[in-house]
Formats: sequence, structure tokens, C-alpha cells
Amino acid sequence: MKITIVGAGYVGLVTGACLAAIGHDVVVVDRDGPKIAALRRGVMPIYEAGLDRLVAETAAAGRLSFETSLAPAVATSQAVFICVGTPPRPADGHADLASVYAVAAEIAQALAGFTLVVTKSTVPVGTGDEVEAIIREVAPDARVAVVSNPEFLREGVAIADFMRPDRIVVGGEDDGALGLMAALYAPITDAGSPLVTTNRRTAELIKYAANCFLALKITYINEIANLCEEVGADVEDVSRGIGLDSRIGAKFLKAGPGFGGSCFPKDMLALMKTAQDHGVPLRSVETAVAVNDARKGEMVRKIIRAAGGSVQGKSIAVLGLTFKPDTDDMRSAASLIILPRLIKAGASIRAYDPAGMAHAAPLLPGVVMAASALEAAEGADLAVLVTEWAEFSTLDLGALGRVLKNPLLVDLRNLFDPLAAERSGLRYVSVGRGDSP
Ligand code: NAD
Repeated sequence: MKITIVGAGYVGLVTGACLAAIGHDVVVVDRDGPKIAALRRGVMPIYEAGLDRLVAETAAAGRLSFETSLAPAVATSQAVFICVGTPPRPADGHADLASVYAVAAEIAQALAGFTLVVTKSTVPVGTGDEVEAIIREVAPDARVAVVSNPEFLREGVAIADFMRPDRIVVGGEDDGALGLMAALYAPITDAGSPLVTTNRRTAELIKYAANCFLALKITYINEIANLCEEVGADVEDVSRGIGLDSRIGAKFLKAGPGFGGSCFPKDMLALMKTAQDHGVPLRSVETAVAVNDARKGEMVRKIIRAAGGSVQGKSIAVLGLTFKPDTDDMRSAASLIILPRLIKAGASIRAYDPAGMAHAAPLLPGVVMAASALEAAEGADLAVLVTEWAEFSTLDLGALGRVLKNPLLVDLRNLFDPLAAERSGLRYVSVGRGDSP
């Protein structure tokens, strides 16, 4: 199938490269000229494992190309995927759909022949109806079907998630369009991933309901971690003990500094707003947002407590800045809240992140970036691990203790075994389990 992808971000690029890899002819369009120019030279605008190779392979095979101009690509495509951003509106937290609607109008002007318009961006219930209305207003005679196909990939493992998803969700009002979507994804569903077909509004809601549920799980285990600290229990064992129950599942039960990233916070706000607008407030989601916001302050207090009650005049080595490992994405990263509060409390900070420092530097004024974890820690009063990059798990804790002025490690991700950390000579403070005295 000839396919146009609009938006060369995390979702658009991965979708484009993967659809090309399963045999489609794909043009990825973005209005960002320098980004497209870089992609044509094989330079990725994002850090995502394996993406550069997949793009190079599919481009060399003649199945993936990059353009800034939407109309010629749309005119020759059977399917157009909208993959532009839907950030929260600053005023009310609702998803900002300006880019989605602008793209819909642009697509409408370029349509020629029957075309599937597929919304892959995360959009509130009813957005597909509006996209269809915009297209019909601009091009009343266009032969078009508007379909919802939300994306569930995780940054860091995006290619594997796209190629072997737990499920593909497609929502539409037209059986022919749903059949075409099933054909488009056949190489993936034939390999065993289930296809959930439903109506458009349901598909739109599935995406939000899924993300908010995962965020609820994280919020729940973080509250349990707080209780563990008070009653002398170990949250890692609680997670394992409940996660082995197949009704619960082990994932998203990792205690830490609270969820962040480009999706959960904004999707929760958007779902809350949708629910309020329809007079059906989602109290559990509202509470989780409040608990998660408070979590960052709890982490700051934990660090200050570990440092002896004050970080005034102290230097802190921070390991990890991105919202999670294996990405350079800094959107709603815990570091963006925790670090400025530590600086405000009088600390100076030297940080190291394997992939996020270029994006983080302008967002964290006053934070000095270091070339390695040990360089960040050299002479610091304490170290704080904020993101659980794999390279930190193999860090020589003995060496870390030796370069620190005081051998104190506050681990906000429970990356290390407390006993091993203490045997390395560190005073070790973690989340929801026995801390060093
Ligand atoms: P992003 O910000 O990384 O990329 C969006 C791209 O769209 C940018 O390159 C931008 O230049 C381009 N763009 C914006 N307006 C355009 C226009 N009018 N014409 C052409 N290009 C335009 O965003 P993302 O992280 O890829 O997210 C895209 C959507 O997918 C969002 O709705 C998001 O919620 C959803 N989503 C994201 C993830 C994730 O992990 N990042 C996962 C699932 C779903």
C-alpha cells in the first residue's frame, strides 16, 4: 500500500519505518525542514534503538522517503496517518488539537481517489468526527474514510512494540475501511498480534483508558512504597508478591519518583477533562494526578533528609535526567521538577545522562553536565539516581563511594540491592525498603 505519514516524531518515524519494513511504500512528511533534511542524510532527530538501521535499510530498498510537502504524497497515497503532537493546552490541560486539525484541512485539499485518513496521534473522544467534518467541509466530494488507530509503543523499545504489539486497535464507521486497515497490518497480525476492531469513539477512548490505568498502577505502588517505609516492609517484594497474580500482572508496579514522560501526564489531564465535560468525573484518575504531582516533593524531602536535613551549600551528583531510560525524551521528566527544587534549597548539581543531556541542558539552567557518572560524582556530597539507565546498574559502587566526598547514594529507582550497595561502602537510601541507618 502507498502510505503517507504526517509528523516525523517518535511515533511518525517509527510507524513509517516499520510500515516500510513490512512491505508498504511510505513517505514521511514533516513541516520541519531541517529535520527532513537530516533524515534524508540518515541522521535521526531522536534517540531510539535500532531506528537508524531500519530507516537506512527501508530507504535503501526504496520504500521509505522524507518530504516537507504534504500534497504530492497524499494525492498518491491510499492511507494517510496523522502522527503530529497533541500536547496539553496550558490553560486547561485539554489536548491541543490544533496540529491535528491543521493537518486534516491540508490533507483534504490534496485528496485524490479513495483515501483512508488514520488518526494515530492520541486524541480525545470525538476528534475523529471533527477530522471528518473538517475534511468534508474542505472537500465535500472527497472519497474518504476517517479511522482511529491509536499507538501504544513505548519509547526505547518502540520498534519491537510496533512490530510485535500486544494488540492493534482500529476504530471506524465503515466496514470497507476496517478491512483495508486489517490488510495493511496483516504481516503483523499474521505473526500473532490480535486486532481489536471497534467504532471510532471506542478506539479513541481505549488509548486513554489504557494509559491512565497504567499510571494508576504506578501511583498505587508508590503509595504502597510510602507505607512500606513506615511499617518496615519491602516494596520490591510487595510488587513481586502481587505482580505474580495473573489478575494483576507484574508490569508498571515499580516504585519510584512518579510517572512522567510525553504521554501519561498529558493523557490523564485530557481524559479528566473529557470526563468532566461529560459530567462523569473520573475520581481515581484525578486522585492519581494529585498523588503523582506530590510525589516529586516527597522525593526532594527524601533527598534532603538523607543529606542530614539540609542541602544548603552541598553538591549533588545526579545520575539520569530523562523521564525513563533508553530515550532522550525529557518531556515531564521527574528531574525537571526535582533538580530545580534542590537548587532552590541551596544545592549545586552536576549531572550525567547517557542520552538526554543535550535536551536537558536548556531545560535545567544551573545544572552542570558531566561526561560520566563518576565525573559527576567526583567530590560531591551525595549522589542521587533519578533514571535507571542500564549502564548505571553496572556502575562500580565502590568506585562511586570513593570519588564522593560522602559515600551516600539516594536511589529513586531501587536499581541496586541495598546489601550490595552497603557492602561497597555506601550509605544507601532507596524507595519503600530498608534504608541505611
Ligand atoms: P513529536 O512531537 O515527537 O512529533 C510530532 C511531529 O509532528 C514533529 O516532528 C512536528 O514537526 C510534526 N508536525 C506538527 N505539525 C505538523 C504539520 N502541520 N505538518 C507536518 N508535520 C507536523 O510527537 P510524538 O511523541 O511522536 O507524538 C505524536 C502523537 O502520538 C501524540 O499525540 C502522542 O500523544 C502520541 N503517542 C506518543 C507516544 C510516544 O511514546 N511518544 C506513544 C504513543 C502515542
